[in-house]
Amino acid sequence: MTTLWPRIEPLLPRVQKPARYIGLEDGMVVPDHGAHKVSWAVMYPDTYEIGLPNQGIQILCEVLNERDDAVAERAYTPWPDMASQLRSCNVPLFTLETHRAVGDFDVIGFNLAAELVYTNVLESLDLAGVPLRQQDRVDTDPIVVVGGHASFNPEPMADFVDVVALGDGEELVGDISQVLQGWKRSGKPSGSRQRVLRELAQIQGCYIPSLYDVTYEGDHIAAIEPKFSDVPEVVYKRTVADLADWPYPKNQLVPLSEVVHDRLNVEVFRGCTRGCRFCQAGMITRPVRERPAEQVSSLISNGLRRTGYDEVTLTSLSTADFSGIESVVAAAIADPLTCGDTTISLPSLRVDAFTVGLADKVSNARRSGLTFAPEAGTWRMRQIINKLILDEDLYGAVESAYSQGWKRMKLYFLTGLPSEMDEDTTAIADLAANCVEIGKSHNKKASVTVSLGGFVPKAHTPFQWFGQNSAEELSRKIGLVREATRRNPRVNLKWHDAKASVVEGLVSRGDRRLGRVIEHVWRHGGVFQEWGEHFNLDLWHDAMAANGLSMDFYVTRHRREDEILPWQHIHAGLHSDFLWQDWQDSLAGHGIPDCRWTPCYDCGACTEYGVEHVVASPVPPAGGSQGTGQDIAAVQAVDGANWVPVTLGSGPS
Ligand code: SF4
Repeated sequence: MTTLWPRIEPLLPRVQKPARYIGLEDGMVVPDHGAHKVSWAVMYPDTYEIGLPNQGIQILCEVLNERDDAVAERAYTPWPDMASQLRSCNVPLFTLETHRAVGDFDVIGFNLAAELVYTNVLESLDLAGVPLRQQDRVDTDPIVVVGGHASFNPEPMADFVDVVALGDGEELVGDISQVLQGWKRSGKPSGSRQRVLRELAQIQGCYIPSLYDVTYEGDHIAAIEPKFSDVPEVVYKRTVADLADWPYPKNQLVPLSEVVHDRLNVEVFRGCTRGCRFCQAGMITRPVRERPAEQVSSLISNGLRRTGYDEVTLTSLSTADFSGIESVVAAAIADPLTCGDTTISLPSLRVDAFTVGLADKVSNARRSGLTFAPEAGTWRMRQIINKLILDEDLYGAVESAYSQGWKRMKLYFLTGLPSEMDEDTTAIADLAANCVEIGKSHNKKASVTVSLGGFVPKAHTPFQWFGQNSAEELSRKIGLVREATRRNPRVNLKWHDAKASVVEGLVSRGDRRLGRVIEHVWRHGGVFQEWGEHFNLDLWHDAMAANGLSMDFYVTRHRREDEILPWQHIHAGLHSDFLWQDWQDSLAGHGIPDCRWTPCYDCGACTEYGVEHVVASPVPPAGGSQGTGQDIAAVQAVDGANWVPVTLGSGPS
């Protein structure tokens, strides 16, 4: 493998943002490619500025580069201007560390963080000169691996990938490397690719789509079966039992150009057991595994010293639930390096006095914006989705925040939720208006921004059986909120494109037949579909029609309990009967408590995997227990244990 830099450099003056293609970040590792080391090109299928901060990519690159049998470099999907230059000058897609051809690596690993990037995977493979379809690849082609949250329903991408890596990647990439090193040492003899895929199928967490037959009866799936007796019928995800064993990234990259989330990021825990029924991330990453508070503090301290950042985000799905949060925040604020000037962003907090007090403490004097996520406008809807906050809880937190000097609030909501009625939708505007009134009693210029997204049901959640609202219905509901907020100049409404939500829904719960659709969209120019300027719903409708498939079948149809879902053979930790019961409980308006503090209700995430919650400081949160699993509404009335993640945005600035 040789560097392509002499052929890349002349292209840079011809494209926007040439810094996307240079690399040279502080912390970058130029690996030593040994003859028998398995080389990984780890890709984020979006632009450099979106992909660079991705912690999963940085963690896996560090873990692989510390091994004796592997090396890893990074790559990102080039923006269309660069893609066009690469094609016209016959330069293949390259990595950033050594600018070698991605197609020359042994493995190309894609992080599928979201569904709308799927056409970018095809674009990247094509630019790398790798056959799109796995059946067309030969022994000398790279093994194409995908991972990340969207890969928990990998079926729409089944035609294009060799291996799906399910769950936490730290141990899994090592196991894959071991098998591939043996293959590489043997010289990858002719016809051995299928044999090595069979070998990879024996590793827990490795799903090989080509080793399964899917049959249909009419439009519905009749069966999903392994082709060989040694291939597992169900593929179980991997779970790292103790995050303390994996203190990565140790050397977070510091880019030369502007990127999103441009600050130090330290992961404080994985998993979430609050049980928000719309949240795929919460469901598939159970159980909760906290990093020891002392390790978090040392990652912060070392990271700030090395990078020069003055801001750190403590990442997780619900950071104020981290049992060591107060000691970590206190240590960071007292760190003599920062002289008390470090801003700590907590991307998800609870709505309670503790939370707002904590927000106040960590943000010091820079307090212009604070974000809460009530998700739904009425208590009835919040019971349906198991986001158990009363209006009074939100108002109390808003009152507390405004009284402590915060000037703006951002409120996140979803529309198109199961059983949502128009009064639930318009209540979003009422809630926002009431928050403005509370704010005005403290600050005449108080304002609220409402961010409204269309709900997309996801695999492995209790809502996986729910028929998504059509684009027209989502647009109508967004229109209701627009109308209801129109006359209130202190409520700024922002909403997501309902058409994009529908395509996200199509691919999220699609089956293998959608591979032809994804390829059709890509072949007709559909790249960067998560970018508003490139998204094109007509392309998706055309592709569905060209392949004789119905959008309604995949998107708006309710699924039956006995239906074989496309991801039936993928195990994300949760028993399907638990999910079905939770869906029924949802429709009945019953909540379910956080099992970190209450008896286990056997969702499967611990019991199936022999792992348990790991709590850094085994003390229940302030506010009391979360009850005993009975109807949460009743529990809350008794002990007032109302919790909700809120977001402190990117830190008040
Ligand atoms: S198995 Fe029990 S303790 Fe573990 S996440 Fe599920 S309900 Fe909670």
